[in-house]
Formats: sequence, structure tokens, C-alpha cells
Amino acid sequence: MTGAPDSCGRSINYLRISVTDRCNLRCIYCLPPSGIPLIPRNHILSYEEILSVVRAATEAGISKIRLTGGEPLVREGLPRLVEMLSGVQRVEEVSLTTNGTLLSKQAAALKQAGLTRVNVSLDTLNAGKYRDITRLGELRDVLDGIEAARGAGLLPVKINMVVIRGVNDDEILDFARMTVDQEWHVRFIERMPFNSAVDFVPTSEVQQRIATLGQLEPRVPPTGNGPAAYYRLPGATGTIGFITPLSEAAFCSRCNRLRLSAEGKLRPCLLSDDEIDLRTPLRNNATSEELRELVLKAIASKPERHHLEAGNATPLKTGGAGGVTNRKMSRIGG
Ligand code: SAM
Repeated sequence: MTGAPDSCGRSINYLRISVTDRCNLRCIYCLPPSGIPLIPRNHILSYEEILSVVRAATEAGISKIRLTGGEPLVREGLPRLVEMLSGVQRVEEVSLTTNGTLLSKQAAALKQAGLTRVNVSLDTLNAGKYRDITRLGELRDVLDGIEAARGAGLLPVKINMVVIRGVNDDEILDFARMTVDQEWHVRFIERMPFNSAVDFVPTSEVQQRIATLGQLEPRVPPTGNGPAAYYRLPGATGTIGFITPLSEAAFCSRCNRLRLSAEGKLRPCLLSDDEIDLRTPLRNNATSEELRELVLKAIASKPERHHLEAGNATPLKTGGAGGVTNRKMSRIGG
């Protein structure tokens, strides 16, 4: 379904929902070792409140939902939420972004509840390095999670790899090779500089390295309507995608999404601090029409582009200490 047009003519049909700010990992580019102050539990939207937002959002043109976090699978009873949301009349798809560590036990129940597919974040294929990057995780759990998702039919499973110079950029070719014989859909993501300036690896450099394996052929996306551009190595079963928030000036022109934070703030853009509080109206018995108007207001206020310039430590609008922006991904949902 086509979404409501924003002021730049983009069609907004996609809502990413952070169901929790809690995470069982502490990835080095996302969270400090000790984590961040947690949102009090009673400030986090209940599943019923999320359902009310989604019902209203569908009246404003949203038809695709992605659950994220924090780590969405640490929130108890996630299949129940999936079932509630996939039963909403205009919802065409409910998908999930996860670190995969808890997926093997939940994949079948999620599929049964109506989940369509999963994206799994995996930045290395080396068990020791996985521990170093995530500070808490075990690679085996993620690989088991990917297999369980495949077995349950949560297809296609997309693998998100944030390229970190000097840490995992030596594995770019290993990830690319995984797409040749196996149906891996790997997406290389430019690391965004939330905490301090980073020497990110631009997509052009990743592509040059992969070109040593063969010429990349443009492909239509395996599914979905996200920001990645897709390619395939000659004869490969899987695909290779690139997500270029930093190096591509036109990146935001394809943005089709809103984000709902765990505490009920609706964000027109991940990289701007503008947000609309939905929790207060929800808890004051706002009608679905009133919520729909707030969703339309968020769509109308979507900025044309982010201001997270390459090498800039914090988004220009935030201008604050790293801690402010550091909260973004786990609270708002990456
Ligand atoms: N816990 C889930 C997971 O690991 O996929 C969902 C939340 S996580 C914040 C969502 C995505 O944001 C992950 O793919 C993660 O790699 C990405 N991410 C976090 N910090 C990032 C950064 N600084 N630059 C680019 N991507 C980032």
C-alpha cells in the first residue's frame, strides 16, 4: 500500500517500533560497556498501547511494521505482540531486526504468530571477535538463530554487517563469499558516528574490495522496501546490499519510515531529536482519530535529510554530548 506523502513527496508507509531499550549485548559502536540508564518499565509502552498506535498509523498510510530495540527478543511474549499486529487489517507485513542470540528458541513461535521475516545483525564470523565486538555474545547462538529462522520459513533472512575499520573490515570478502553458495543476503552498513568521529569505511571502498571476487550485478531487492541497494556476485545464490547513510547524498530521498521509541515517542527521523509524544495521549484515552492526526503530523514534519555529516561526531541538531546520541539506537531502535 502507498503511504501518505510527506512534504518532500516521499511516501511514508513503514513504521519501526522499538519494543524495549534493553539489550543483552553491548556492541562497541552502539552502547558503552555498562549500558545506559534504562527507561523505567512503566514508561515503556504496553503491547496494547503499541497496538493502538499501529491501528492509528495504518489509518495514516502505514502498512509495514518492523520490531526492533534494544534487543526485541529480550521482551517477554514478543510472539503475542506479533500476533496482535499482524491481525490489524491494513498491516501487510510484520518483520523483526534482532541480534539473533535468542532467535533459535523463538523462531517457530514468531512465525506461527505471523512474523514474515527477520534481519539479523552479525558483524563477524569469528567467535573471538564476536565476543570482542558485542562484549557479551556468543557467535554460535547467532548462527543457530539464523538456521532456526530459515527452518521456520522466516525468509529471506538478511544479515546486517556494520563495517568497522580495523575491527572487521578484513572480513568483507568472507561475508561476500557467503552469498555465493548459500542463500545469504548480506548488507554492508556504513558505521554512523554516534559517539565520536569515526573513520568509517565508505561503501565505494567495500565495493572495490568485493570486485576482486567478481563484478557485482545490480539486483532487485530480495524483499522489502528499505534503504539498501542490492547486487549479486556472478552466479551467486544470495545477494549483497549496501546501506549508505554517510556516503550517499541522496540516501534520505528514499526514506519511507517513522520510528516509535520504546517510551512512545514518534520520530520522523532517526538522526533528528524532533519527536512527538504518543504515550501521554495514549494514557489519556486519546481516540484513534487523534492518534492518527499525530502520526500525520510526524509525517508532515519529516526533514528532507539528516545532518550526520561524514566524520561529524553528533548530528548537528543534537549538538550535545555523545551520550545523548548514544541513546538513539537502543531507545529509538536502529
Ligand atoms: N538488537 C537488535 C539488533 O542487534 O539488530 C536491534 C537494534 S540494533 C540498534 C539495530 C541495528 O542498528 C543493528 O543492525 C546495528 O548493527 C545497527 N547499528 C547500531 N549502531 C550503529 C552505528 N553506529 N552505525 C550503523 N549501524 C548501527
